[in-house]
Amino acid sequence: MNPSSCWPNFHRALSKFLILIITAVLCCAPGSLFAQASSSPAEHVLEISLTPASGEIEIIDQVRVTGRDNYSFRLAPWLDIESISLDDRQWRTEKLGDHEYVVALPDSKPHVIGFILRGMVPVRGTQPTTTLSSSSGSDGVYLPGYDAWIPQDETGLMRYRMLVKVAPGERAVATGKLISEQTTNEQYQATFEVTHPSEAPSLFVGPYQVTQRLSQGLRLRTYFHAELTGLADVYLAAADGYIQRYQASIGAYPYADFHIVSAPLPVGLGFPNLTYVGRQVIPLPFMRTRSLAHEVLHNWWGNGVTVDYSSGNWAEGLTTYMADYALAQDKGEAEARSMRVKWLRDFAALPAQRDQPLRDFRSKQHQASQVIGYNKLAFVFHMLTNEIGQSAFNDGLRRFWSKHVYGQAAWADLQAAFEQAAGRDLDWFFRQWLERSGAPRLSLGAHSVEQIAGGYRTRIEILQPVTGYRFKLPVLLATVDAKQRHEIMISDTLTRVEFVTPAKPRYIHVDPGSDVFRRLRRDETPPILRDVTLNPSAITVIASMDTEFVEVARELAARLMDVELRFEILTALQSAEQPLLLITTSNNLAQQLTQLGLEQLPELPDIAHSAGAWTARRANGVPVLVVTAENVLELRSLLRPLPHYGGQSYVLFAAGRALSRGVWPLGRGSLYRDLQGSL
Ligand SMILES: [Zn+2]
Repeated sequence: MNPSSCWPNFHRALSKFLILIITAVLCCAPGSLFAQASSSPAEHVLEISLTPASGEIEIIDQVRVTGRDNYSFRLAPWLDIESISLDDRQWRTEKLGDHEYVVALPDSKPHVIGFILRGMVPVRGTQPTTTLSSSSGSDGVYLPGYDAWIPQDETGLMRYRMLVKVAPGERAVATGKLISEQTTNEQYQATFEVTHPSEAPSLFVGPYQVTQRLSQGLRLRTYFHAELTGLADVYLAAADGYIQRYQASIGAYPYADFHIVSAPLPVGLGFPNLTYVGRQVIPLPFMRTRSLAHEVLHNWWGNGVTVDYSSGNWAEGLTTYMADYALAQDKGEAEARSMRVKWLRDFAALPAQRDQPLRDFRSKQHQASQVIGYNKLAFVFHMLTNEIGQSAFNDGLRRFWSKHVYGQAAWADLQAAFEQAAGRDLDWFFRQWLERSGAPRLSLGAHSVEQIAGGYRTRIEILQPVTGYRFKLPVLLATVDAKQRHEIMISDTLTRVEFVTPAKPRYIHVDPGSDVFRRLRRDETPPILRDVTLNPSAITVIASMDTEFVEVARELAARLMDVELRFEILTALQSAEQPLLLITTSNNLAQQLTQLGLEQLPELPDIAHSAGAWTARRANGVPVLVVTAENVLELRSLLRPLPHYGGQSYVLFAAGRALSRGVWPLGRGSLYRDLQGSL
């Protein structure tokens, strides 16, 4: 499993990094206990019988080990070891701590440790579940590899062959190649196999209807709940298309199968050769376009090549760049630019204290880390493409893939591949973008235009006060009869440039296509919801006397704000410097805005709505997020959808359905200079 869910509507509660930490804490901390000879990954031969409704599970596991003095492992707390054998003789295990065990081995020769395990997979809803924890219910069983539902040693790697038996109305699907399956009156059984060292198996069982498509030697399947089967063919066709696309640009798809499995949980997770997606999400259009492409691509980045988390996570940004962003590029440069501008706007909304160097990003645990680890990083790959050219970029990726497929790779490996492809050193590039937080800031200084023999000379100063950056900066110079595009190198805090044109210059626009990652100035950034929701100093005001409204408003604030909540009353805030979330009934709105000194209201689209959210700036520039609802029912209907619109300036609702949303238009900003009248 990789930290893959990037779509706007769901983010994962926990991450692979956390899992790795948990693994490390549980298994690896007492180093002396685990001093083992270097050993090849264990091979598991598994036989699993499972009853979804009750969660009852029996696991027979034959673990072949070699080159070890002992086999230490962890096991999910809901499993009991019924028996243990060594080379078919009864044997024993020693408990090291909570859910950690060690089996002492007589020597480091090959041995087979046999386990019979029994337990009840926790029933969903009886305790808090995360994307890490196993859960069961009549609508499906979820057994993620990281939950250690089979013995898992500290390497985290294994090979396995797994036979799963369930009732005939159920279907089981797992990571690994589907070797065989059989349905009788008594049961359905299927066998899965992984022959490369891999993460532990993840297993999914449910009352699934299976639809299959074969494509160029690859088996694609949907395992959908009954209500979704009408969508199976479009999903399979879409997945097939993405796989072909990424195979062509990166290298062969690394598995035999790809499955899309519907989940009773509201998740969107990428596993080797399958994606597990909430059944409520599958019908949504964004899922089978952008999100599916993203999940499919994780079979290359994150699963095919896994991430060496000790040096940071390169996979999310690369996947965002090659899936989400590439799909925007397909629609044209305008769409691609608007995605880059959105990333810049998100970054501008990130308070400095929540910024972090890209190298420190491990996984998305809150919105702030998405702004860095997904968006900023994808932007860095855009700049790398511009720096070394598309063909060197593609070549670098193919090199990286073929060298590291089925293995783990770090940032340094990716850098090396691009350096080889480009035939030059790129250390300066990776250093400046990965190892520091923040971004360049650009503005224009003094300019002059003078008439010279045969034309005009335009001079302008470009200011970039954040030292230590070096980048190509596109400059557009428009004259009365032409537009000239230039590229200049910025490496100083002050760069003086000079252009000579035959015709009279009209304007100059620096970085007109937003190709450079930089911190936008406030006068360039229309406020978006995140300007308030990410800001730790933000304050929430609830303007209502109705206790039920206040209660729902508090819940909404808790869901909206990505920071600790602080409540205040409005009268205390007339000249406040803190960003503000105001939640009010519609009929109270005018009065509240007057109190805030917000008389000039933004122009919302002329659409009848019963609830909405919009942003504005107070006279002192501080952003305000206003949420209005006609009544408590309408307010309640915002609880689920509204937190997903953080990148918008406004969104209007009726009965919980978004009718209209958008971002206030960008000003021309400080990188545009009108040159007419400068002579
Ligand atoms: Zn992802």
